[in-house]
Amino acid sequence: MPLIVQKYGGTSVADPDRMRAVAENVAFTRRHGNDVVVVVSAMGKATDNLIQLATQVSATRPGREMDMLLTTGERVSAALLTMALHDLGIDAVSFTGSQVGIITDTAHGKAKIVEVKGDRVRQALADGKVTVIAGFQGVSTAKEITTMGRGASDLTASALANALSADACEIYTDVTGVFSADPRIVPQARKLKRVSFDEMLEMAGAGSKVLALRSVEFARNHGVALHVRSSFTWEPGTWVMNLDETDEPGSAAVEDPIISGVVTDTTESKVTVLGVPDQPGVSAALFEPLAAANVNVDMIVQNTSTDGTTDISFTMPSADMAVAEEIVRRVAGEIGATGVTHDDDIAKVSLVGAGMKSSPGIAAKMFRTLADKGVNIEMISTSTIRISVVMARDDLELAARSLHTAFGLDSGADYAAPLPERR
Ligand code: ASP
Ligand code: MG
Repeated sequence: MPLIVQKYGGTSVADPDRMRAVAENVAFTRRHGNDVVVVVSAMGKATDNLIQLATQVSATRPGREMDMLLTTGERVSAALLTMALHDLGIDAVSFTGSQVGIITDTAHGKAKIVEVKGDRVRQALADGKVTVIAGFQGVSTAKEITTMGRGASDLTASALANALSADACEIYTDVTGVFSADPRIVPQARKLKRVSFDEMLEMAGAGSKVLALRSVEFARNHGVALHVRSSFTWEPGTWVMNLDETDEPGSAAVEDPIISGVVTDTTESKVTVLGVPDQPGVSAALFEPLAAANVNVDMIVQNTSTDGTTDISFTMPSADMAVAEEIVRRVAGEIGATGVTHDDDIAKVSLVGAGMKSSPGIAAKMFRTLADKGVNIEMISTSTIRISVVMARDDLELAARSLHTAFGLDSGADYAAPLPERR
């Protein structure tokens, strides 16, 4: 019997009606002759609410206790969905991550999977049961309950799909798939039929929220194809897969556009350290303490000097600004820099496309398009299949839309479906 893993995100199970709608789909899949393993996220904003609650009670919030707290969100969903399945006449059983043997390292809040045992899932499937598993969590090698990072229920799903050699791994969410741009910003965005793991990784890294970065990494490393689709419309979504292996040379790949998507990100800020002495060790002195404080630095720009001093600019999550600013001001003093400024009103726009590797001139066309619209580029960074630029936040819509048009991505019609709230 084919085995299908289905993961339902927070908005898909946000209330009792949604829970029953999901149960109907699981029952439908089961009755059509499939074994089904379901992975659920916490209902709606449950995780955010639990975090909020913790901040009201505690300033220290020890990692172990946060994980004890946050894992309850997914446990609620798993138990409720299983009850709804029983009411539909489906034999089902719920498990926590720990019960099914998702073994992680000991890093509370961002644990990494070291092994997926899955014995109880296999047994339950053999007994003819649908199994419903609380996502996002596992048990550590030190026997403590762990969570694997925000959005990590996707990771639970791909890890189980891999461990159980599932025939499909469906990720149900509140959008109908992966789009060529965020339809809230670019109304002409189109749904992609398929996207390669490498492109999806770059999109997630560039700020796309559809799939969590680590889930895509895991899926790529283990070759688990993901079908991202909506639990509101149930229509076919986007396949995230290894396109290199499945494409016949010169066939469908030819039709794939050079650029797959325009990704926008407004979650970062820019920091500039002015008048930095141009000598060995200053960058290390600046970025080592930031790394030690877990500040995820994104783009870095530094030029050579003509007068012995230079400026260093970098971008980082705005959420970490308080921590970073303290560090940067201290280090700037130590290395003899003349000042520090920061700018929260920036946006990053990235072009992502595997076709970039073999088509020169993409960067030039991107810069010309922005220039013609009067958009000033503040920073640039590239990988083999991505070009990112930083600009003023006010230019974001204009920049993203004109790039989407210039690279032939417009769908021809404005996106019409109701849009969920931004996560
Ligand atoms: N509930 C967790 C979160 O909100 C995990 C997930 O949704 O995948 O981050
Ligand atoms: Mg969530």
